[in-house]
Amino acid sequence: MEKTQWICPECELEMHPIKLLDATDSGMGGQGIAHTELSYAAVDSVASFFTRTIPRLGVVQARMCPECGHINLYGRPSSSSSGLLRRP
Ligand SMILES: [Zn+2]
Repeated sequence: MEKTQWICPECELEMHPIKLLDATDSGMGGQGIAHTELSYAAVDSVASFFTRTIPRLGVVQARMCPECGHINLYGRPSSSSSGLLRRP
């Protein structure tokens, strides 16, 4: 189910989408390079021996309140993993 409006729990204003920047190498200037889309995995995931990557279940999206700066994070499951982290 897709929500069309997100409301700040503190100010009750509409929260706007923002992009979270993730970088693992600080590079020149210390601001980070090689940005990638923030994602999530199951808590017990381990990296593949061959690829050294952890299989991700989806991406993380964020919304921020323009008044107080409150940020909410939301997981958007990829189509192949939807339902894997659902509560019983
Ligand atoms: Zn707020």
